[in-house]
This record gives sequence, C-alpha cells and structure tokens, in this order.
Amino acid sequence: MSRFKKELKFAVKLVRKATEITEWFRKHGFESFLKSDQSPVTLADFASQLYIISKLKQHFPNDEIIAEEENFEFIDLKAENLIKRCFNELSFERLKIIKEIIGFKGKSSERQWTIDPIDGTKGYQKGLSYAIGIGFMVKSTPRVCAIAVPNYNEKFLAIFSAEENQGAQASYDDKDFKLIRVNQNEVIQNIRLCHSLHYDQPWVLNFAKKIGIKHFIQIDSMAKFCMVAEGTADLYIKPLDENHSFTWDFMPGDLIVREAGGDVTDLNGEYLKFKKEKCIWTAPGIIASNGNIQKKILELYHKNQ
Ligand SMILES: [Mg+2]
Repeated sequence: MSRFKKELKFAVKLVRKATEITEWFRKHGFESFLKSDQSPVTLADFASQLYIISKLKQHFPNDEIIAEEENFEFIDLKAENLIKRCFNELSFERLKIIKEIIGFKGKSSERQWTIDPIDGTKGYQKGLSYAIGIGFMVKSTPRVCAIAVPNYNEKFLAIFSAEENQGAQASYDDKDFKLIRVNQNEVIQNIRLCHSLHYDQPWVLNFAKKIGIKHFIQIDSMAKFCMVAEGTADLYIKPLDENHSFTWDFMPGDLIVREAGGDVTDLNGEYLKFKKEKCIWTAPGIIASNGNIQKKILELYHKNQ
C-alpha cells in the first residue's frame, strides 16, 4: 500500500513546474557564478530552488528542507527582479522575500526533503542534459523521489518517480505515467555504460574498456540513473569524493534504480546511506546497474585493482 502518495504526487508536480522556470531562463538568459568549490551556479538554480521551497513550505510546514544552493550573495537587486519577472510571466505566485525563502530549512524533523534545483549545471549552461531532483526521506530512509529531465534523449521532457516498495514510473512528453523496469542484460559485451560528462575520472573508462565494455553514454546529471532504471542503459559508474557527496545528488537516483529492480552500491558493495545533506559510502565510487550484473561488475572491479 502506498504510504506517501501525497508526497509523491506533490514532488512530481514540483519538478514538472520547476522545469518551466529553468527553461524560461534558458530562453531569456541566465547569469552564472562560481561557488567557492569552483562549481557553477546560475540564476535558474536559485529560481528553481525558490519555487520548490516556497511550495514545500506551504504544503508541508513541519518538514525539514535540505537544499543545495546557499550562496545568496550572488542574488542582487537585478537578479531578484529577473526572478520576479520569470515568475510573473509564468503566472506563478508572487514572492516577496526571495533570499529568506531560498535559504529556508524548516524545523529539524525526521521527515526531510532534499532538493537539487538543477543537477548538471554545466550541462544546463551548454544546452545539454540536466535534471531537477527532489527526494523525500523519513528517518533517513529514502521514501519518495521525483526527477525531471527536460530534453531527455534530446527529445522531450521525461519525469521519473518512485516510492519505496511501490516501483518506479516514468512519463515521457507529458503522457501518462507507466511503470518502468531495468533490463535483463547480463552479457558484458552488450553493456551500455553511462558515465559523467564533466565529473568523470580516468579510472572509470579504463576499467570499463579493460573488462570489454564497448557502448558508452556520456551525459550530465542524474538522468544517468534514470536511463538505468528504464533499461536504456545497463550500468552507471560514478566516481565520488568526500567534498561532493550530497544527498540531493544521489538519493533520488538511488531510489529510482532500486525501485525499478536494479541495484545501487558503492565500490565495496555497500548500500548508500543518507544523513541529512551527506551521502555516506565506504569506497569512493557508485555502481548503479540493472542488478543482474552488479555482483559481476564489483568482482571485476576488485580483480582489476
Ligand atoms: Mg545542482
């Protein structure tokens, strides 16, 4: 029985509406800034986060919010006005106190929402793949996720969602949601590997080629998890480092793949854990797969070290 139907429906609605904001900025131009860790952020990231938090705050006032963007010094009067213009043109509710809402975290709670207002900002800046991801946890256990990928496969908007023990679903090009499943491929030579466009490390492709993988999909964002979940890819290998392992990056993808029948572990075969904003792992890499090949890939990884 669905326990979090309300949260799931709401998360799906939020990621869908947030893509209207990010696409508005894509058409009208977005300012980009560099954060202290040298990763980029754009006005569209802030506007998307602002919208999502404002709605969560209204509908779930007692829940805690864990969102990616914090560098409010980038939001000057000109930026505020542009965000207001975007909301106005999209007929979204008017917002008065922009910075306070973007930074709103709510009270400490065992019910927590994670927000990545734009995942794959580098891809977004270049007109390539990006995603908007929302996760919902109770007692640090992933319960619900929603991921919107505009221009999925360079075609249309795709929205992926999952609830714990209820399976994963996808809606393509605004059509009805249908259950999705990972594929059954077990043959290494046929594996399609997703890997990162901007944050990859050489060991990923070196390892993949060494074990005989021949097909590669290189894109930004958590869309890679979605491709494994719907079966267009078989495997996703993601290098990790301690300073960039956040719940908003990985919780939605972890749940979507597992609910679609796949598997997600770190390089030691341990499941990912989430503690507030931190994604916790025991070895610096994630393997997400259709499940059939998970054990084999982990064995091959350790044999080749
Ligand atoms: Mg982001």
